[in-house]
Amino acid sequence: MTTGPLPMASGSPPAAPIADPRVPVVIRPRPDRSVVDAMPTTGPLIDRFGRIHRDLRISVTDRCNLRCVHCLPEEGVTFLPRSEILGFDEIVRAAAVARRLGITSVRITGGEPLVRQGVPDLVGRLAALGFDDLSLTTNGSELARLAPSLAAAGLHRVNVSCDSLSPERFARIRRRGQLAPVLASMDAAEAAGLDPVKVNVVPIVGVNDDEVESFAEFARSTGRPVRFIEFMPLDADGAWRRDLVVPADEIVARIHARWPLEAMPASGLDASQPAERYRFVDGNGEIGVIASVTRPFCGTCDRLRVTADGSLRNCLFAHDELSVRKVLREGGTEDDLALMIRRAIWAKLPGHGINDPTFLRPERSMSMIGG
Ligand code: SAM
Repeated sequence: MTTGPLPMASGSPPAAPIADPRVPVVIRPRPDRSVVDAMPTTGPLIDRFGRIHRDLRISVTDRCNLRCVHCLPEEGVTFLPRSEILGFDEIVRAAAVARRLGITSVRITGGEPLVRQGVPDLVGRLAALGFDDLSLTTNGSELARLAPSLAAAGLHRVNVSCDSLSPERFARIRRRGQLAPVLASMDAAEAAGLDPVKVNVVPIVGVNDDEVESFAEFARSTGRPVRFIEFMPLDADGAWRRDLVVPADEIVARIHARWPLEAMPASGLDASQPAERYRFVDGNGEIGVIASVTRPFCGTCDRLRVTADGSLRNCLFAHDELSVRKVLREGGTEDDLALMIRRAIWAKLPGHGINDPTFLRPERSMSMIGG
């Protein structure tokens, strides 16, 4: 495998880095007046294309203790000043309004959420708001230590990122951190009652694409659903290229050739989930693919994100943001927050446009947005 920046390192000149994520995000002018006027101010959180929004991703920090090759640069990362990050009171206040508007599912993410102090306390306060589903995505480095308090606080489940099952390669991909503690953290999470423990893998050509079958075997032997996420143009190094993406169809075909799979129909809470799920026909577990690049699922997207610095984003690839932090810190009311959330959703585009010739990467990278 290639170390350091992605395989583009071998010979080709480095791609231009994407815009500095520290550059202040421009809040664009209000949308066209007629669009605002048509926006419902009661009822479910609906956008102009009829999608009802129920899922909120909350990033609690832009900081991370790792420098994974597909996410952050090896050196020179500058994080946001503490004063710009939402406090827990602010997060809970925004989440309570979102809950009132019909958000039923919350995922806590980052950066690495568990490098922020006190996340179990935040989990407890979010759990008290009564979400149907409360989950967290983590790199696993702090999870073994925190799993019992997270579960006790009311967290339902976790996704643990793990991009190789080979200790040496794992260390090269993460550039910091070891495999064994992450595997142990999955055991600890299960022992604490977090259920299910899912595993996120980003397969990349020339990096770890030869491990698709190994991860399928891991899903079968551990019972942990493995989610293969297509590599997206959100890496801070700007090294993404389409030919580095391992297509979801290829992943499913390779696994199916070894252990027959059958598609699991999406239902209930799953209906709008990004993963297409497959179970092993012999009953030994399941895998999922998140085909953001080759088979975008924007038509059923019901997600809204709030970044660590309190910006509402209606899509991972959005260029526009609205600042709830500004509303929170300038004395805004709950109704002001609700209106801003509705506006963010009303402004959502039909799709992320990765496959359009005019596609432009967003100003922020994955870990600045909250994956
Ligand atoms: N630090 C936590 C973690 O590692 O899971 C949460 C944040 S991380 C940004 C969330 C997920 O996004 C991880 O599974 C990570 O591998 C994935 N990710 C990061 N950069 C990505 C990219 N360019 N394309 C696809 N997935 C990416």
